[in-house]
Amino acid sequence: MPTPYDEMWEKLNLDLEAHEGLLTVLGKFYGDIYLSQEGRLQGTEYLDFVLSEVHGLRIKELQDAKAAGRKVIGAFCVFVPEELVLAADAVCVGLCAGAEVGSEAAEQVLPRNTCALIKSFVGFKLARLCPFIESCDLVVGETTCDGKKKAYEIFADYAPVYVMEIPQMKNACDRDLWKAEMLRFKAKIEEVTGQAITAVKLKEAIKLVNARRRMLRRLNRLRAAVPVPISGRDVLLVNQISFYDDPVRFTKKIDELCDELEAKVISGQGVAPLDAPRLMLSGCPMAVPNWKVPYIIESSGAVVVGEESCIGARNTRDLVDEGAETLDAMLDALVDRYMKIDCACFTPNAERLDHIVAMARDLQVAGVIHYGLSFCQPYAIESFKVGKALEAAKIPMLAIETDYSMEDVGQLKTRVEAFLEMVR
Ligand code: SF4
Ligand code: SF4
Repeated sequence: MPTPYDEMWEKLNLDLEAHEGLLTVLGKFYGDIYLSQEGRLQGTEYLDFVLSEVHGLRIKELQDAKAAGRKVIGAFCVFVPEELVLAADAVCVGLCAGAEVGSEAAEQVLPRNTCALIKSFVGFKLARLCPFIESCDLVVGETTCDGKKKAYEIFADYAPVYVMEIPQMKNACDRDLWKAEMLRFKAKIEEVTGQAITAVKLKEAIKLVNARRRMLRRLNRLRAAVPVPISGRDVLLVNQISFYDDPVRFTKKIDELCDELEAKVISGQGVAPLDAPRLMLSGCPMAVPNWKVPYIIESSGAVVVGEESCIGARNTRDLVDEGAETLDAMLDALVDRYMKIDCACFTPNAERLDHIVAMARDLQVAGVIHYGLSFCQPYAIESFKVGKALEAAKIPMLAIETDYSMEDVGQLKTRVEAFLEMVR
């Protein structure tokens, strides 16, 4: 079916037929997982709209920004300091992909046993399916896990790639490395955009991104109420959209959603029965449209009340100190904030274990589901220590490893249901 965006997609060199197939599958999937929920808040209409226009209106906005001289910068990881991008008047978009389509193309250049997230973004590029990637003036990678690090070498043959070196430990020399990388990135962004990053602009950007993080924290506080007022699926979607939508609009819309949620909490209305087990997810990020595991959990009678993940609390836990006045002091504040990220790529990574236990206690969960993407070694190996830490805290954990395919849905559901029996 022709759409008003066909010309734009054609100009972006998308494979129109395959892209239409992707949007059809996405629409059906969204209908089954999201629109079928009962008692959703009115504010979730914003989520429905953003998702329905994610490759349409939002891409049109990016093209308009480009026509006005602004650059579009894509990133895969929460380590990329968005504040520097915004301070150069560029647009920052998340490129992590959560769909299996394109995997076949990816397997032409990557080993089959590569994590689904990596295969997905490479596949989206090779199969010409992602208008975000095609809109980017620069794609920023990072040296987090080996899979991503090496995949960017291949990706660089198809897109303008810049790679940031992320430290693997948290000693003083690692902080020095990260500060140097922050400065190198600042220079690169200035070169690509032709804009100087000043203290005034950076201060504004720090406040803007902090405001979005604060809003997501407000949402996380409200969703933790008893009874649970919003599904885990909807909160995951909010977090996913935070990587795509304009930050000012997003923060305003989520503020409205939170006001509605607050009223619901005060009147004691929930989306799940009071005795529905409260679960927390922990582990690998779930990029849009990866809704598989939360859907399995919630359609089995439990409710997700927290995500210890980059598309979740790991991205909102820490704010950048807003007190700095000079450019160098602001860069230091950025360095310190980003060094607190507790990705499994770090060694040792004891703070992640502490965060998981504290979060699980805080949210009064009946159990934790550790989510690992198949072939993701950092999170798979770390899940052993997570299990031990939770066991010591007497909180049950189920470790799941899966990818984006639907083949194992039945098997996962059986395991989740058995876990729920146990925690009940
Ligand atoms: S899990 Fe690690 S590598 Fe992945 S987005 Fe988060 S910080 Fe980046
Ligand atoms: S999920 Fe694991 S293997 Fe995949 S990109 Fe993230 S850290 Fe790397």
